[in-house]
Amino acid sequence: MKILVLNAGSSSLKFDVFESDPEHRLTGGTIERVTDMTGAVASVFDQLDPTGIAAVGHRVVHGGDQFTESVIIDPAVENAIDVLSALAPLHNPNNLEACRAARTHLPLVPHVAVFDTAFHHTIPPHAYTYGLPWEYLTKKKIRRYGFHGISHRSVSLQFAELTGNRPEDVRLITCHLGNGCSVCAIDKGKSIDTSMGFTPLEGLMMGTRSGDVDPGAILHLITHERIKPDNLLRILNNKSGLKGLSGVSNDMRDILAAAGSGNERATLAIDAFAYRVRKYIGAYLAAMNGADALLFTGGIGENSPFIRQKICQNLHHLGIELDSIANLAEGQEARWIGNAGLAVWVIPAKEERLIARDTLHCILSDQTFRSQM
Ligand code: AMP
Repeated sequence: MKILVLNAGSSSLKFDVFESDPEHRLTGGTIERVTDMTGAVASVFDQLDPTGIAAVGHRVVHGGDQFTESVIIDPAVENAIDVLSALAPLHNPNNLEACRAARTHLPLVPHVAVFDTAFHHTIPPHAYTYGLPWEYLTKKKIRRYGFHGISHRSVSLQFAELTGNRPEDVRLITCHLGNGCSVCAIDKGKSIDTSMGFTPLEGLMMGTRSGDVDPGAILHLITHERIKPDNLLRILNNKSGLKGLSGVSNDMRDILAAAGSGNERATLAIDAFAYRVRKYIGAYLAAMNGADALLFTGGIGENSPFIRQKICQNLHHLGIELDSIANLAEGQEARWIGNAGLAVWVIPAKEERLIARDTLHCILSDQTFRSQM
């Protein structure tokens, strides 16, 4: 039995096919610069032999407060994903388009939605509530939802497995540092806080996203500088963060190279980026009253010893110290890189594997599907 996983981003479509044992990836690839998601899905099916695909798992970014776990997609779920597009306009419409397109190619197999927000449904009210008037929190559902949940959950499950612990026993701070970035506090296997909020704009500074900004500054730009909300949406999502600050690129490798050649804005971008990660780590250590381990994942988290060192330097008093040799080791595998109270690990996020695993779990627990097997 094979599972196809589709991960539709804002401008790319990743696909992977797993044998029913999700650890066994048969094939996969990425279609870049996608402008028509339906066409991108068609070209995935041109490259694939669909024989034996028993289910399709779809990454869906926003599941709001109603989807707390992965579900088989039916018309009601599709409709809910559509309604939630208002909360994630850059992501949910693409996720939905990929899902509808895949259904035309494989109409007879179950399609499963695996939500990026679902892992964070355990965040308690005191951590997901913003200080806004009550009706905004209740009627308009303005609250922290959190994102990157599949990644944070994947590394926490891997850490538990690698260290011989039960997932429900581990207390972790997980740092997903890629083009998008977020930190998550995981207490006894459950997310209790995360840096992204109502949208994936809040929190850490990212490749092109601003992260935390005083809302008063945004209002100032609207009222005094007459920048239109549409334009601000683009500025905060696509022209800010490392790219806006450095003026060089959104790619950390370019920024590190520019800083190495004396570019002061690039140096400031790196310092501000690392400082903010550090600040969240401190906050989450306080929120959980300690942790067992600090985990790094994502393109920057997995591949940049320099950034990891900058984030962790002089944190010995909090139990965080990198092993200077282990931190320099390269590779695709999960690895220990320090221990001074908290263990520090680099763990590549295996999001597609987790989506495949959830998809399999979902269809195996579905009575209708089981009766057809
Ligand atoms: P992701 O979104 O997880 O693919 O991560 C993309 C980010 O990882 C980009 O900012 C890349 O520059 C960064 N990245 C990838 N490899 C390295 C590296 N060796 N050193 C620093 N940053 C890296």
